[in-house]
Amino acid sequence: MKYLSTRGQSPAQNFQQVLLTGLAPDGGLYVPDKLPQFSVKQIRDLKGLSYPDLAMVIITPFIDGEIEEKELGRIIKSSYANFNHPKVAPLSQLGENEWILELYHGPTLAFKDFALQVLGRLLEYILAKQNKRVVVLGATSGDTGSAALEGCRHSDHVDIFILHPHQRVSDVQRKQMTTVSDDNVFNLAVEGSFDDCQRIVKAAFADQSFLPEDRQLVAVNSINWARIMMQIVYYFSAALELGGPDKNVSFSVPTGNFGDIYAGYLAKRMGLPVDRLVVATNTNDILHRFISKNEYSTTDLSHTCSPSMDILISSNFERYLFDLFKRDGAALADFMSRFSREALSVSESQWRELKSFFDSASVDDELTCKTIAQVYSDHGVLLDPHTAVGVRAARECLGKKMGNERAAVITLATADPAKFGEAIAKAGLKTPALPSHIQDLFEREERYTVIPNSLDVVTDFIQRNARVSG
Ligand SMILES: *Cc1c(COP(=O)(O)O)cnc(C)c1O
Repeated sequence: MKYLSTRGQSPAQNFQQVLLTGLAPDGGLYVPDKLPQFSVKQIRDLKGLSYPDLAMVIITPFIDGEIEEKELGRIIKSSYANFNHPKVAPLSQLGENEWILELYHGPTLAFKDFALQVLGRLLEYILAKQNKRVVVLGATSGDTGSAALEGCRHSDHVDIFILHPHQRVSDVQRKQMTTVSDDNVFNLAVEGSFDDCQRIVKAAFADQSFLPEDRQLVAVNSINWARIMMQIVYYFSAALELGGPDKNVSFSVPTGNFGDIYAGYLAKRMGLPVDRLVVATNTNDILHRFISKNEYSTTDLSHTCSPSMDILISSNFERYLFDLFKRDGAALADFMSRFSREALSVSESQWRELKSFFDSASVDDELTCKTIAQVYSDHGVLLDPHTAVGVRAARECLGKKMGNERAAVITLATADPAKFGEAIAKAGLKTPALPSHIQDLFEREERYTVIPNSLDVVTDFIQRNARVSG
């Protein structure tokens, strides 16, 4: 399998090359040149597999023999062995035909662990084999950071630098990052927004001349293909558990950078019977405006009680647009270059195609809190604010269909409510306790550096702190 850049100007790469990088040199994102296809019968035969075994079946075609099967099996197994639930990704029911998929049983309590536990181990395996050191650089709206640190902290071949927006992540999110004490870990609090952090990271990837000669940057954001790949798996596991492929399911996905829902789109394109995909956003609603009104334009960022989705520019949306532009990299590059300057729209037929896959809704903080309170009183289930946005959006878009046997609606529960005590309190409920393995989080010592919103300051910091080889 080969991976192409969405901007069409960089040579195709194989899986290992794509794993060890971020953006393509032309500024695009890598996507597989073709998707593996699963027939209804093949999907039916996946029933009953354990989560790691299912993951092996789904990702093997993407890795295409570049990592020895036995080694891959060991990496996958150990990645999910430290999840706090025997099913890894359990479903729980709210109402009739209404479910949540609990993706927060990993070590850092958000869905990011599904991919980053694996990514950290894949990197360590390949780098050890090549006897190479890299610099991992990432931007986080809160959850990627801790999951990436957890995945990479034990690596002898990685120095990891994580940028988060200063004072714009929850207390638990910050502490989960800044209390990691390993020497190869650096946290930078940028005086700016997540989009500022993401912009700095992309610029650093585009010009890596500040690094020592034998080093390169590796991405842990969802611009890294391996993250998307690992997230396809739980769409299959959830659908299989609710009667798929012989029954259709729909998914509602709390969306920020569009990585998680893009994995759902790929699952559907690979043959999984998925009815609708709901893009659930908070008041940072650019994707909702595009899907509902064919208007693709930025506005000002608002800071909400679901901070992991406080994002204006969703990087992974470009991967979907590549398909919408019939894989014409030049046309997409032109579209993206006009984006920062003007409000854009796509042709009628493109918009129709977009709407054939996606529904969307935008949910404000007040409704988010109301949903948390209501679901708790109706079903005794405590939702984190991101998941509440997803549940509310699902009800808004698909409420009428929920009575219909054919379409069970599954909202991805992207984080443990214990990570967002502030929002839970706002909803009038008692702040949930942290799970036992991080119960002393607030007593641990924090270590991070506050820096201005500046590319030069970041590259300078990395240059001074990346450890010398050997
Ligand atoms: C990262 C994150 C999201 C958004 O996921 P994307 O893949 O960026 O769309 C939603 N909820 C939580 C809790 C997250 O950590």
